[in-house]
Amino acid sequence: MRQKIAAGNWKMNNTLEESIALANELVAAGSPEGVLTILGVPYVYLDKINQIVSGAPGIEVAAQNAHQALSGAFTGEISVKMLSSLGIKYVILGHSERREYFAESDALLLSKTNTALAEGLLPIFCCGEPLAIRKSGEHISYVINQLKASIFQLSAEDFKKLIIAYEPIWAIGTGETASPEQAQEMHAEIRAAIADVFGDELAQEISILYGGSVNAANAKDLFARADVDGGLVGGASLKSDVFIQVMNGFQ
Ligand code: PEP
Repeated sequence: MRQKIAAGNWKMNNTLEESIALANELVAAGSPEGVLTILGVPYVYLDKINQIVSGAPGIEVAAQNAHQALSGAFTGEISVKMLSSLGIKYVILGHSERREYFAESDALLLSKTNTALAEGLLPIFCCGEPLAIRKSGEHISYVINQLKASIFQLSAEDFKKLIIAYEPIWAIGTGETASPEQAQEMHAEIRAAIADVFGDELAQEISILYGGSVNAANAKDLFARADVDGGLVGGASLKSDVFIQVMNGFQ
């Protein structure tokens, strides 16, 4: 049985007070049985939110990024060593907003992934195509090539620690969700590509999340698909009542 995961990405939103309230509400609701809930928290709130969720079964915290070096003269950056020293277990890497606005390449993301894994952090690794590629019909090869140029170069032992998030860029923050069929098609292709590189047994173990305008109304339909093991959720993770419905979207 693959791990079912409801991951929230708070991005650059909310004050400390609002973040504390949100975390407390999610802890009070509890992660549903068999579901791992991961909160993608801004750096400055990580320690506080991690303390709030510690002791809440099935709720963990993720950083939204990390630097590829373990330490050094990189003013303003945050290392995986700093994150692990706070007891943070997960880190989101390769989000399309990082790829687009901060020019993060596949090669850089492979380097970040290697550094995170070496420090014992578990990456939630994002991939996904822009609208023009989807319209051209090249979306599957585009996404598989992103993976080939990055995490498919890991050892099998490292690769199996990853969570993958497929996030079509045209569906992120737009209100336009990939249909469950579109999500399932891509997830099955990703899983088949993993099987080609690492073998079927490992491919069956990897959780592949869908991200892109997941909300309380569409989560159940998406999560019901055979290869959709949960969601990476932006906007709908900022309100506890909505995100709790997403967390409960598994059959
Ligand atoms: C995201 O931030 O990864 C995301 C999918 O955002 P949204 O759910 O708002 O589209």
